[in-house]
Amino acid sequence: MSFRRKPNPNRNHPEYCPYCAGTSLFPDVEDEFAWSCADCHRVFSVMFHGQDDAEHRPDKAPSSAQALQQSLARHGHTLVTA
Ligand SMILES: [Zn+2]
Repeated sequence: MSFRRKPNPNRNHPEYCPYCAGTSLFPDVEDEFAWSCADCHRVFSVMFHGQDDAEHRPDKAPSSAQALQQSLARHGHTLVTA
């Protein structure tokens, strides 16, 4: 299989036209992310820019050994070593 140009791995595939909700969408040559709507003849681009960092990160989960010791301590047992 040969391509006329290298495939763009970041290209997204919209299901619906954002202007008329049409589903007849075809890649367009406007840019690497462009789609053409056959229903309303608009050309638009869909591009993924990345992901923002989460506002709050969950605490790091304790290891199994740490979780066991914490559980034992909650129930009044002292440190258990292997
Ligand atoms: Zn459309």
